[in-house]
This record gives sequence, structure tokens and C-alpha cells, in this order.
Amino acid sequence: MILQIIDICYLVAVVLFIVGIKMMSHPDSARKGNSTALAGMILAILASFLTPGLDNLALILIAMALGTVGGLYSAKTVQMTAMPQLVSFFNGMGGAAAALIGLVEYGDLPIGDIGKGAVLMSSLVIGSVSFSGSLVAMGKLQGVLKDIRINKMLGFVVLAIAVGLAAYILTSGAPQPTLIYVLVVLSLIYGLMFVYPIGGADMPVVISLLNSLTGVTAATTGLLYDNKVMLMGGILVGSAGILLTLLMAKAMNRSVSNILFTSFGASAGTAAAGQDGDQVAKEINSYDSSILLAYAKRVVIVPGYGLAVAQAQHAVHDLEKILEEKGVEVLYGIHPVAGRMPGHMNVLLAESDVSYDKLIEMDDINEKFPNTDVVMVIGANDVVNPAANDDPSSPIYGMPILEVNRATNVIVIKRSMSSGYAGIQNALFFDPKTRMLFGDAKKVLNELVGEVKNM
Ligand code: NDP
Repeated sequence: MILQIIDICYLVAVVLFIVGIKMMSHPDSARKGNSTALAGMILAILASFLTPGLDNLALILIAMALGTVGGLYSAKTVQMTAMPQLVSFFNGMGGAAAALIGLVEYGDLPIGDIGKGAVLMSSLVIGSVSFSGSLVAMGKLQGVLKDIRINKMLGFVVLAIAVGLAAYILTSGAPQPTLIYVLVVLSLIYGLMFVYPIGGADMPVVISLLNSLTGVTAATTGLLYDNKVMLMGGILVGSAGILLTLLMAKAMNRSVSNILFTSFGASAGTAAAGQDGDQVAKEINSYDSSILLAYAKRVVIVPGYGLAVAQAQHAVHDLEKILEEKGVEVLYGIHPVAGRMPGHMNVLLAESDVSYDKLIEMDDINEKFPNTDVVMVIGANDVVNPAANDDPSSPIYGMPILEVNRATNVIVIKRSMSSGYAGIQNALFFDPKTRMLFGDAKKVLNELVGEVKNM
């Protein structure tokens, strides 16, 4: 009877996960979707406590309490700009948990049970790769680790040795306690070698792939324990992660294999000076910018990572409202990889109550640029870099961009001429249509609100 109750709870939990994920696909219902999935997770955890023969209850509760305090604290205190690093870290912890479970359970594995053994080895290998890979991704996003060129073939050799070793352990017919640790170390090394050479603008794809791998390890661990909710949850994360990986790669016009198996052009150029050859970037002040904005028919705002750093989402919404009061149509052009995580700009702007109808996706807004009087690029750089269209030697060549230079005027708000995440110069800043409005995004936007108000 108790087993049936657990199964029913698990079934309800899985339904709540699926409904929750579905609701997350629209900003209006995303918050509720999160709570729905959370309710599913709480139900699944509570039901697990009903499992007959559960021991080590005190240890489980202590571990849960520590995890809850740590998770709540980090989620509450993290800066919006550091969210991708936190996601990478949590993801790595999921991988580590799966690998540790694999290690612990290896001792109880019946010799000769190839099926269960293969599942356990998968948890161990994929979990370890996901753990070390996620930590490298986190370090890179934080800017503490740089791109290192590592021969991809060397990585494959390590992976092949790990897979061969796993096969040997499985079929040797005897316990291999030492070799199992060697397998973990090899997998950790492969995780490092896998993520280290992937750089710059390709990071979003890697993060969602690692996320998907952690989902797979949750599923294999679910198989190991014959736990249906873990299996289903893992499958959901794994498949959602793969879909996101493909969508991100498409948004960057790259194939996943190209991103993963060819080294990023770590050319990370020098892009500091206010000069490109004999071209010089032209400046504008906030007063002149406010005139351009207030007399425009249509203004398109292009937000980027710098908007998030400056926490300027409320200031930009204030400017939008005041321009609309003056009869200007204001839209936002959203690039799929603007910021540092998928959907970064949507989340940020939703926080300041910008209407979702105003957030226009890349393909649609590109069509509107020729009929736009002013584009205001705020803290964005790579996602508006024309080199992606016209410079085959550029590391971001082929990535679709917001073609802001098709508008009549372009104002770029940023603090200096520094490069963006991909580390490359941006010819847009030297375009005859472009004016640079230097300063911190929030400060500049507040100035613009004041100037437009006074008109
Ligand atoms: P970029 O990183 O290309 O550029 C951001 C710009 O913001 C910088 O050039 C910087 O210039 C400016 N900036 C920083 N702080 C401020 C501030 N306080 N006020 C005003 N400006 C500021 O950002 P984009 O959004 O254009 O591009 C995103 C990049 O990140 C892409 O390469 C993408 O692939 C990558 N990426 C995306 C992820 C995702 O999932 N979305 C994940 C990981 C990476 P300055 O210093 O002069 O102010």
C-alpha cells in the first residue's frame, strides 16, 4: 500500500514538473511555473521519506538542512549578473552528487550485473565530467579562468581511455576499488579538457549542454535506485538542456559540433582604443541624445550585459514611459544571447515591469530597423557587432546580430571603448550613424530621463 502511495505522489510530482516547465515558457506565468515545479519537488522529497527501510534519517536531514541554507543564501544574495556562474555551480554540484552516488554504490554492485554496472559507470563518468566542466565554465564566466588551447584529440584520447577502463571494470569479474577512482580522475580531467578550450561567445551553449549532462546523470541515478521521479526529472532536465543547446547554437548560427570540437578563435583581440585605423568614434552628450530621442517616431532600445551590470532596468523603463508620454513608440530588440545567460534580458526587463509585448525578438526587430529613427544600444557590444556579418576572420562570424546600423541614428551607451565578452573590436562604434554616449548605463539613463522630462 505504502509503495502505491509513493508511486502516486511521484506521478503527481512529475505532472507538476511538466506543467511548471510549460508555464515557464511565458514571462507572465513563469513565476507560477517555478512555484508549481517547486511544489512537485517538495512532494517528491516528502514521498521519498515514506520509502520502507529508510535509514540514516538524521544524516539525510542534516545534509538537507545544510543544502537548503546554502542554496537559499546564495540564491538570495547573488547579483543578477553573477546568476550564470551560480547556475553553473549548482549544475556542477548535481554532477558531483551523481558521481559520489556512483562511487558509494559501486561497493554494493553485484559482480556480473552488467546492466546495472553500465548505468553506474555512466553516472560516475558523466557526473564527473559535468562537475569539473561546470566549475571551469563558472571560472570563465567569472573571468578568473582564461581560454587555454588544448588539443581536442588529446581530450578524446582521455575520454577513450576512460570508456575503455569503465568497460574493463565492468567485465573483469572482480571488484576494482582502485580502478574506479582512476576512472573518476580521468573523467574529471576530461571535463577540464572539454570546457577549457571553448571560449568567449560560445559559453552559453556549453553551459546548457553541461546542464543537460547533469540531467542525464540524475536519470541514470534514478535507474540505479529504481526511483521513478528521479528518472523522469532527469529526463526532463536532460531533454530540456539538449533543446536549449540546439536553440542557442542556432541563435549563434553555429552547429553544436563546430562549437564543441573546433577551438574557439581565442583571438580575443585588443579592442581598447577609441580609434579603428584612421576612423574615430564620435561622441554625443545626454542633452543632444535626449533631443534625438524625444523627436523620434520610433526608438528601439537594445539592452546588453552592461545594462545588467549597471542595474539600469528600472531607469530604462522610466525612459521608455516618459518617451511614450511624448508620443514616441518605444520597442526593445532582444538578442537571444544578450547578457550572460539564456533569457537574461527578458528576466531583467520583466523585473522592472517592461511589458512583454514590447520585447521584440531578433528576426522581427531586424525588419523594423530601416523604419526606426533612433536605436539606443545600452551596454551591448557583441550582439550588435557587424563583424559577425562581414568579417569571415572574426571569431563571431556567422552569429546572427541585431542589425542596428540599418536604423537612421544609433546611440551607444557604454563606459569606454572596451570590448565585450568575445574580446573583439566593434566597427559599429565607428559607423558614421553612430554616436557614443559614455558613462555608466544607469547614470546616463537617469540623466536622459531628466533631460527628456524638461523638454
Ligand atoms: P557584451 O559582453 O558583448 O558587451 C557588454 C558591454 O557592456 C561591454 O562592452 C561594456 O563596455 C558594457 N558595460 C559594462 N558595464 C557597463 C555599465 N555599468 N554601464 C554601461 N555599459 C557597461 O554584451 P552583449 O550582451 O552584447 O553580448 C553578450 C555576450 O556574452 C555574447 O558574446 C554572448 O555570446 C556571451 N554570453 C552570453 C550568454 C547567454 O547565455 N546570454 C552566456 C555567456 C556568454 P564598457 O566596459 O566600455 O562599459
